Amino acid sequence: MGCDPGNRIGLPCFARVGRPKMEASKTSPGSPSIAVLRVGARITPEFIFARTLSFGLATLNWKRLILCVMVSTLGADMVLGAVAPRKKMPIERMHPEALESTRKRVAELQRLRKTLAPLPGLFDYRGIFHAHAEDSAHTGGTRVEMLGDAKKAKVDVIFLSDHYRPHRDFISQSWRGDHEGVLFIPGSETRGFLVHPTNSVMTSMDLPVPEFVKRVGQGEGLIFLSHMEDRPDHSMDGLTGMEIYNRHYDAQRDLATLVNLALRLTDPKEAVDLAALLDRYPDEMLAAQVQYSEDYLEKWDREGLERRVVGVAANDCHHNQVFLVKKVDDQSVRVGTIVDKESDMRLVSATIRPGVREMVAGKPNGAVLARLDFDPYAKSFANVSTHIVAAKLDEPTIRAAVRAGRAYVSHDWMGDPTGFWFGSSFEDMTLPQMGDEVTFVSAVVLRARFPLPCHVRWMRNGKAIQEKKVELLETLQWTVREPGVYRVEGWLELNGELRPWIYSNPIYFR
Ligand SMILES: [Zn+2]
Ligand SMILES: [Zn+2]
Repeated sequence: MGCDPGNRIGLPCFARVGRPKMEASKTSPGSPSIAVLRVGARITPEFIFARTLSFGLATLNWKRLILCVMVSTLGADMVLGAVAPRKKMPIERMHPEALESTRKRVAELQRLRKTLAPLPGLFDYRGIFHAHAEDSAHTGGTRVEMLGDAKKAKVDVIFLSDHYRPHRDFISQSWRGDHEGVLFIPGSETRGFLVHPTNSVMTSMDLPVPEFVKRVGQGEGLIFLSHMEDRPDHSMDGLTGMEIYNRHYDAQRDLATLVNLALRLTDPKEAVDLAALLDRYPDEMLAAQVQYSEDYLEKWDREGLERRVVGVAANDCHHNQVFLVKKVDDQSVRVGTIVDKESDMRLVSATIRPGVREMVAGKPNGAVLARLDFDPYAKSFANVSTHIVAAKLDEPTIRAAVRAGRAYVSHDWMGDPTGFWFGSSFEDMTLPQMGDEVTFVSAVVLRARFPLPCHVRWMRNGKAIQEKKVELLETLQWTVREPGVYRVEGWLELNGELRPWIYSNPIYFR
């Protein structure tokens, strides 16, 4: 989901000061041609969209459709009620007044932002995990496009997650190293994991899971549990960590918004209004579906009681949420996305949606009547990222920092989190810091700092132990008096609603 590729957003310009970039530029093996394999049976947003249209528009049953919206809205609320009294539904967040209020608040926060002193010898790199380009029939974007958008969104490092296609080596036949200042680390989304081995594992792809996990994780290899919703009880043995947020999961759970978009796209006035909103509020529209994923966090917190589990954000970007309405003839249109075959797009006739007649009038058959681009890479990257705090931007250093848990997840579009930190000290890095597992000693003081005023939740073993509204540059402290897994969350208030902004990795006192 997302926005428009133009550069007309008034969002904060993320200032990045004096970080070392990579020196040598390795040659890329070149971009393989776009694969035509349909990979995996997982339900994609486009599948849901198509299915939504099929049981809505195609059956002419509008009572059923409206009921469906209501039921799915209720269902979502019950499933997602992490901060229920303060939480709004995506459709509410997409209301023009809500979008404008959200936009204003983001601008106001940007004005309040303070630059925090860097940690000694360390830099905050904006990273993206779970990124797709030219790796399947349902992926709309290319690597060249991803690179351009990474520069636009000030992304420093991208962990690629090519859908696994047998015989194509996702390590040796992908991008690796510096590309115009952006570090690419190849990998794959396969067997329910994000895998980033240090060298080819093609001869190990059919090993039983435990051996496969071991093989990928050898040396500096990284492996994360992905799409936890499909495998909530999966063992964390041998894994580096897990996704603690996944953008695709938010889309998958939100049938109501997809139905709503389908309806709006087949009405001449609504379609124009929707395009204008997307044009003006691309980040706010893309973020409207974002929720606090209780089930992800519950598993993360539970597994953390037993072992270190590094939390990362799954961007799961494909640049494929580009919705099209195409004229068929004077009585009908097809609705779908850029990655749908024409025959897979839903046929919508004027007998169901009378506005279709007005939309097609005077246009040649086959004309594109509406094209709404919700998820260009730059907007997906701003939507959620994983910041990695490391001494320099090269593959071994970044891998080591991730493995050490020197990373936090952030919805950057709300406010640049650069400078956030959680640890015993902001000067002495030998004291317990984010990601460390240490022996419990009573009265250790933990500190957290944020570059924006926000609501902070201190968490111990998955339970909030304190919630506090912090003003600017106030350093928060918590004195550890018992063993446990400690982490912090920062929330921002936008349009009268608290929304999750930052998730730290934990410090583990055993
Ligand atoms: Zn995919
Ligand atoms: Zn994916």
